[in-house]
Amino acid sequence: MSLQTPEKLVYLDHHATTPLDPRVLDAMMPYLTHEFGNASSSTHPFGWRAKEAIERARAQVAELVNAQPKEIIFTSGATESINLALQGIVRAYPDRPRRLVTTTIEHRATLDCCKHLEKDGIEVAYVKVDSTGRVVLDELQQALEKPTLLVSVIHGNNEIGTLQDLDAIATLAHERNCFLHVDAAQSLGKVPLNVRDPQIDALSMSAHKLYGPKGTGALFLRGGAPGVRIRPLLFGGGQERGLRPGTLNVPGIVGFGAACAIAKEVMPSEARHLASLRDYLWELLQQQIPHIRLNGSMEYRLPNNLNVSFEGVEGESLLTRLRDVAVSSGSACSSGSHEASHVLRALGLSPRLAHSSIRFGLGRWTTREEIEYAAARIAEEVKQLRSFGTGEGLS
Ligand SMILES: *Cc1c(COP(=O)(O)O)cnc(C)c1O
Repeated sequence: MSLQTPEKLVYLDHHATTPLDPRVLDAMMPYLTHEFGNASSSTHPFGWRAKEAIERARAQVAELVNAQPKEIIFTSGATESINLALQGIVRAYPDRPRRLVTTTIEHRATLDCCKHLEKDGIEVAYVKVDSTGRVVLDELQQALEKPTLLVSVIHGNNEIGTLQDLDAIATLAHERNCFLHVDAAQSLGKVPLNVRDPQIDALSMSAHKLYGPKGTGALFLRGGAPGVRIRPLLFGGGQERGLRPGTLNVPGIVGFGAACAIAKEVMPSEARHLASLRDYLWELLQQQIPHIRLNGSMEYRLPNNLNVSFEGVEGESLLTRLRDVAVSSGSACSSGSHEASHVLRALGLSPRLAHSSIRFGLGRWTTREEIEYAAARIAEEVKQLRSFGTGEGLS
């Protein structure tokens, strides 16, 4: 496959990552250049100014989710935050039940972390979702009949965009005295999130899904008396109250703070705008292509997500031909593998239909023209692929 970039390129893969907002880069620039101090240096202004910048960013991140700044721990991204939450809580409460409850549609970060914990003798229950990707609450309640330490759920799904009913999940978890961890990598800054309503005990966040830099994220850990305790995964210089030691990534964290401040301001209008562009894309695809179906829920969905199955078309073949439209099939993390997406399978899709699905992720700078172009290109390629008559037939 040639790596040459075609002239026109439409980026519709904002669940994989987002471009840096120029305002975020502006905020970071001083800390990539002359403000190079180590935030732990307490003996001179270089360190003081870096520390000030970190604390400003901490307040900005906290504000977006209605947390206290002291409840925010900076990490390298949502993968690390999820690991720190799950492994850290399990290790901090050795006398509580050695059992977690999660769902079948989690991101690889959570699933792989759970697999690792299972090897260490922790029991993990995976609760099913309905055909739209929402957690079946009766099943969650049943799973919680056995004493459990922690419930972990993905808020906005990275493949199908389904949003979970956090109110109901938090109520069930807390009735049974369980902690609730939420993977908010996709939902942060896209839909309202308030860690006090419902009460969330731990929340994982990532900067690069929100027009911030890669390699930066945070874990919210509920404070108060008693707050949530964790045991760190790393040991070192005592940064972040010793819970995540290591020299702080000052430019990255400043960028994350700026990204959160922007999101707080633009979220309502941006969400409305993206949802209407997304609905327009779905309309165009339906007009131009027969035998397609929507995956997920139209009611409880990230405003920038669309996931569509094109019957009789191999998603991978479609992607190969769509060199000028950046989309993905399944999740970026598992592409390269030929397993059908575990999320689409969990909705009840056959392996074949799961393999014929494309994920669209719209973003801050997506235009109407780009949507029209993408829809037309997809219609063209689907028609071509179907005309080859692979003999699979359309149901
Ligand atoms: C991207 C993503 C992650 C991992 O975040 P990183 O910051 O890239 O480590 C975890 N969960 C979900 C839902 C994601 O979309």
